[in-house]
Amino acid sequence: MEKTKKVPKKTCGIIDSHAHVVSEFFGAEREEVIQRSFANGVVQMVNPGVVLDNVDELKDIAERHANLFFATGLHPHGAKDWSDKCAEAIEEASAHPKAVGVGECGLDFFYNNSDHDSQRQAFAAQCRLAKRLNKPVIVHCRDAWQEAFDILKEEGAGNHADSLKGVFHCFTGAPEHLSAIADLGFYVSFSGIVTFPNAKSLQQAAKQVPEDKILVETDCPFLAPQKVRGAKNEPQYVWYVAERLAELRGASVESIAQIAMANTRKLFSLPEPVL
Ligand SMILES: [Zn+2]
Ligand SMILES: [Zn+2]
Repeated sequence: MEKTKKVPKKTCGIIDSHAHVVSEFFGAEREEVIQRSFANGVVQMVNPGVVLDNVDELKDIAERHANLFFATGLHPHGAKDWSDKCAEAIEEASAHPKAVGVGECGLDFFYNNSDHDSQRQAFAAQCRLAKRLNKPVIVHCRDAWQEAFDILKEEGAGNHADSLKGVFHCFTGAPEHLSAIADLGFYVSFSGIVTFPNAKSLQQAAKQVPEDKILVETDCPFLAPQKVRGAKNEPQYVWYVAERLAELRGASVESIAQIAMANTRKLFSLPEPVL
């Protein structure tokens, strides 16, 4: 494993809208990684669940850090285990004051770790729950665009005040997906994938997404951006995602960070960071 690299100092803050800062992935280093990211300009972060057996840890981490929030959901990989009990667990966790969304949930027809019917059912149920709880849904979508669009539409996504709100996290789509996403009123969150040299159609999409829909994330510990490829990803590297987006859009990294911060706060109803 490569040694941790320090990101260059910036004049503003940034939000990592999707970071899995849990012991499952960071072990004893978890707190150190969180502190290091806060020390390097990450002002807030959202820690979404992928399983339901670490909800207590998600709550505990959010209670330790004023600027860290969480979401609970069942990832499509585990969708075959979906039951009413899962819905109850998500609803219960969502009552916590630091719970800002439902997810991550969605469809992954690339890995197919759960059958498609279970994935559709678990995703639709979590969208319904998010709508009822008035929280945004954090969508994981891989190779299942039309199916995801159909479910979101059916569950009430759109551009009305009372529509289901949400984000396509770790976006891997192309320009052809953007109009359907705009019709759903959803945000698009870019990860380290946008920094990979061969991610051409994603980079094309990154140039075209409307400014008021852009979020940035690491999805750490996965997907370290190109500049730190081979290292274990952590929230502070979200700066490299913003840097690449800035290059693609002909903007400054600070302006991308600020736009993404405002969008993330709006989507997840985050307060101003505690200094
Ligand atoms: Zn995901
Ligand atoms: Zn994730």
